[in-house]
Amino acid sequence: MLDANLKNQLKAYLEKLTRPIELVAFLDDGDKSRELKGLLDDIASLSTRISVVEKEDAGARRPSFTIGEPGKPAGIRFASIPMGHEFTSLVLALLQTGGHPMKLDDATIEQIRNLEGDFEFETYFSLSCQNCPEVVQALNMMALINPRIRHVAIDGALFQQEVEARQVMAVPTMFLNGESFGSGRSGVKEILAKLDTGSAERAAKELASKPVFDVLIVGGGPAGAAVAIYSARKGIATGLVAERFGGQVLDTMAIENFISVQETEGPKFATALEQHVKHYEVDVMDVQRAEKLVPGRVNEIHLASGAVLKAKTVILSTGARWREINVPGEREYRGRGVAWRTARTATARSSRASASR
Ligand SMILES: Cc1cc2nc3c(=O)[nH]c(=O)nc-3n(C[C@H](O)[C@H](O)[C@H](O)COP(=O)(O)OP(=O)(O)OC[C@H]3O[C@@H](n4cnc5c(N)ncnc54)[C@H](O)[C@@H]3O)c2cc1C
Repeated sequence: MLDANLKNQLKAYLEKLTRPIELVAFLDDGDKSRELKGLLDDIASLSTRISVVEKEDAGARRPSFTIGEPGKPAGIRFASIPMGHEFTSLVLALLQTGGHPMKLDDATIEQIRNLEGDFEFETYFSLSCQNCPEVVQALNMMALINPRIRHVAIDGALFQQEVEARQVMAVPTMFLNGESFGSGRSGVKEILAKLDTGSAERAAKELASKPVFDVLIVGGGPAGAAVAIYSARKGIATGLVAERFGGQVLDTMAIENFISVQETEGPKFATALEQHVKHYEVDVMDVQRAEKLVPGRVNEIHLASGAVLKAKTVILSTGARWREINVPGEREYRGRGVAWRTARTATARSSRASASR
């Protein structure tokens, strides 16, 4: 199933495992089950710490498999053969289950651990979807941290009847405890903010107690990040509040001709922006939506959470967003049939060969 090159790469990664892993397969007589069994056997052949077992479970999707520690309930399940864009999600799930640290800060890990309740997540994805791995990887990490969170990543192409019955119109689409939870790209922070409403209140209280900033930037795209860096470098008390740090670059994999960067990927570019900003003393307040600016000697930015931030100077760098045309159902069906297309995308496609942005 895996070619020699991929096996070599995977073998090197799997040397980082410090704990045993059990892959539990739920299979039938179909071709896809045989394909999955081949993949799991290949993986197990690359590390002595990985074993594969087959189990019967009438309620389980087939083919599917779980990744967990031997003898313990597993929170991660793939109802798919996770190749394509999801191969990275598979590798990360193996490494993290096997003891490799996750790229999450301690406060976030603690917040996930403290979530109360039982959370059964299902994510529908496609192997060619570029926005899906972030959601799959976020929910897998959450399932590893908190045993009351379970996540199944489902390849819609293998489970068409479900896709139709549940009216999944776009990927990624998430369900929580059988109810629609949202669609489109989202990471751990966004999912947590939706789940842990108590945390939103705590965050609002913390934000409300911030001192007056010299400069407060609203917007965390490339423009807001640039302002923050130049402001903080001058020793000015700088805050940056953003609904989604990174901005529009997160909506695309292909970023070209951003001055000095000939070609990169959107998420990579956004991570570089974040690292650059964090190199300076900037108070970054992510996943916070500003709703109102009240100008004055000290300006106020009112956030959706109810908190009010104060600053001597406010800089708005809120970029662009998809324009709505206010037709019934537009918001409800966003990502489920309603989509946007930029003039940039259209012109770039037709003139890609000669275009230089
Ligand atoms: C699909 C796509 C492909 C692209 N490809 C390229 C490319 O190849 N090369 C290139 O150079 N450019 C490309 N661009 C354009 C590029 O992404 C933008 O020019 C750039 O992101 C603009 O930066 P910005 O900081 O002004 O705004 P944005 O990136 O739009 O950032 C705005 C910020 O403000 C925040 N915000 C907005 N409203 C609020 C609010 N009320 N409260 C709090 N925060 C708020 C947002 O969350 C975000 O953090 C592409 C854009 C898209 C969508």
